Amino acid sequence: MLIQLIYRSRSCAAWQTQALLTWTADFALRNQEQNIFGMLLYDGDYFMQVLEGQADVVDALYARIVVDTRHTDVVLLLRDPIPHTHFDRWHVGTLDMRDGCDSRLLSSSARWKHWCTTLGMQADQGHRATRIVEAFVRGRWRDPVPAVTWFSDAAQAVPAVPGSRSAVVSLAAHRSAGWQAEPQRLAGHDVLGETRAHFALQPIVHTRDQRISSVEALLRGPQGESPQSVLAGVPPEVMYSFDLYSKADAIALAASLRLDCTLSVNLLPNSLVSQTDAVDFLVAQCQRLHWPLNRLLVEVTEEEAITHIEAFRHAVQRLRASGIQVAIDDFGAGHAGLSLLAEFQPDTLKLDKRIIQNVHTSGPRQAIVRSIVEFCFCLGITVVAEGVERREEWQWLHSAGVRRFQGYWFARPGFQCVPAIAWPDELSALQRRRSAG
Ligand code: C2E
Ligand code: MN
Ligand code: MN
Repeated sequence: MLIQLIYRSRSCAAWQTQALLTWTADFALRNQEQNIFGMLLYDGDYFMQVLEGQADVVDALYARIVVDTRHTDVVLLLRDPIPHTHFDRWHVGTLDMRDGCDSRLLSSSARWKHWCTTLGMQADQGHRATRIVEAFVRGRWRDPVPAVTWFSDAAQAVPAVPGSRSAVVSLAAHRSAGWQAEPQRLAGHDVLGETRAHFALQPIVHTRDQRISSVEALLRGPQGESPQSVLAGVPPEVMYSFDLYSKADAIALAASLRLDCTLSVNLLPNSLVSQTDAVDFLVAQCQRLHWPLNRLLVEVTEEEAITHIEAFRHAVQRLRASGIQVAIDDFGAGHAGLSLLAEFQPDTLKLDKRIIQNVHTSGPRQAIVRSIVEFCFCLGITVVAEGVERREEWQWLHSAGVRRFQGYWFARPGFQCVPAIAWPDELSALQRRRSAG
């Protein structure tokens, strides 16, 4: 299995640029022999390194890196399966950030692309790795006080603490009948009548760029009935297979509308984990419908994910290895939020409506949103604010750094279609100024 690993560490010595390049040229050779790709950033104090390659080889290398005495405070930031490597040439592209690479270099996407090209990395800004690197270049992941210093100071002040250092749903019958069979037959009930599953599509908008960043497919009955009422009519024994199979209809709808953005679909975690070939099914449907895998995003609510954490983690690894993205939905609505995030970092985090509602007047909501935005920025996670119903909410969220919004104020879900978007007036004025200038 191909993986990507990112760590940051603090250098024990100040490296001269030339010495650094000579040193990295040496381990570039070894990486080449082992088919490891990656890059190293150095800012005079801290290193950040991205490594990509076969899991066992990268893990073995990382185990050696951790005990290397030339650096300390090694912190693992990401270790995830990937469908392909992101570096076409470099075994250790090295960048000394004192050498003119500062945040100004990243201030436009064209410059960012150029910078990635220099490092031999594909400028895939949607990918978490590139964004973690960006966070590093913009000054994150440096500790104001090195951990060891803090410890010795703290040790003087306080006495040392000793030692401180589901039921499986059988799919065979449905599969042989073909998932494309009438859902009525597939699900063994008549809630959906003669037709396939229906969906309402709701855009998630990137307001600064005035574009649709993704579209969420929300399950509906043939007359636009709610997801709850559709799911309530599905017999429990085929609930998960129905939930999974209906996603083929969502992908087919998006493909038939020729959407050129990401498609988000909702799944019960059990639909993912109780069916061993769920990921294969999604991959096969994307291929059949010519829908790019990296434009499919699976949303799972935090509440549900936490109750099946191990099986869920396994399913997520498989989704990532295939290139499909993962989102935590309704973040903030459940109770497990932070412990879930400590265990598992999604590509996207969707802030629940209840946190967004009246955020412009609520101090606690503002403090929560600010800290989540910072957390997500450091870890390359995209933040989406759900349930934006008022201009003031959008304005405040935008000022706090949120860039993607979903809510009635922009567009209500459209039955089997992408509805028109009510762009805020401010944006048309901005657009006019941009095109005039
Ligand atoms: P969700 O995934 O959080 O989807 C967003 C819900 O918020 C949608 O409700 C949408 O219509 C609603 N919404 C969007 N903007 C606003 C707003 O500004 N204000 C308010 N008050 N609501 C807004 P919907 O379509 O009724 O879906 C409810 C839930 O049903 C979804 O919540 C999702 O968890 C679930 N669901 C939908 N489709 C599926 C599916 O295919 N499979 C599964 N397992 N669950 C689904
Ligand atoms: Mn959702
Ligand atoms: Mn939601």
